[in-house]
Amino acid sequence: MRLSNKVAIVTGGGSGIGLAIAAAFVREGAQVVICGRDRKKLDAAAKQLGASCVAVSADVSDAEEIKTLVDATLQSFQRINVLVNNAGVLLAGTAESLSEDDWDQTFNINVRGLWLLSRAVLPHMRAAGGGSIINMASVLSLTGARNRVAYAASKGAVLQMTKAMALDHAAENIRVNCICPGMVETEMIAQFIQDEAAKQQRRAMHPVGRFGQPEDIAGAAVLLASDESSWITGAAFPVDGGYTAT
Ligand code: NAD
Repeated sequence: MRLSNKVAIVTGGGSGIGLAIAAAFVREGAQVVICGRDRKKLDAAAKQLGASCVAVSADVSDAEEIKTLVDATLQSFQRINVLVNNAGVLLAGTAESLSEDDWDQTFNINVRGLWLLSRAVLPHMRAAGGGSIINMASVLSLTGARNRVAYAASKGAVLQMTKAMALDHAAENIRVNCICPGMVETEMIAQFIQDEAAKQQRRAMHPVGRFGQPEDIAGAAVLLASDESSWITGAAFPVDGGYTAT
């Protein structure tokens, strides 16, 4: 049990990478609050994960709902040791084709949401004597891609926020790191790989020859949440089947 006595919040925990992280945390002995916008999915996920998991419906871009999430976590488990800022959206577009709404939505969720929830959780981590914040960045924090102008910009911001926050809170024993996944087979990606040609072309960008599975990301999150990584802060971990090694 690598996470016994830890209480974690995982945003976007009702599906994909967030759900795999929540499941891995529960397996390692943590108590976990998952949040998201889809009540039905969240309830199904919490049922699957058992008594150590509580579902709270909250939109991370809304400061009031963030407060509800933090209050509900403290009410259920009395403290917060780990925050996984995983909720995110991918809205495709170039600088010309992207709508203002899509730009705003991308930044409100991927960047502002991460900031709002981190800000709300930090005092509770400080009170607990420290903590670990894990931000879900992307290989697009590190490299470019066509038709992803808002998403890549938002994930670049996540990487830089990770470093800045790591410096601000290092002396308080609050570590801040990010994971930069390659393409992981989740609902988010399914919309972009509908035919076999597109699938093959994108698979070939990963030298190991396959897409990631949500569980491939969960292992890195367990390490960063656990005390095994107590000297790791401000780091960006590509977990990408070699995508960024080329
Ligand atoms: P997903 O669509 O299954 O998960 C995204 C989750 O975020 C969903 O559960 C959704 O309900 C939640 N969410 C979206 N907006 C929200 C909001 N405003 N408030 C609360 N919850 C909200 O996709 P995923 O692939 O599991 O993505 C998880 C994270 O991983 C995202 O940040 C994504 O950018 C990042 N990522 C994914 C990939 C990939 O290939 N799948 C690659 C790199 C990074």
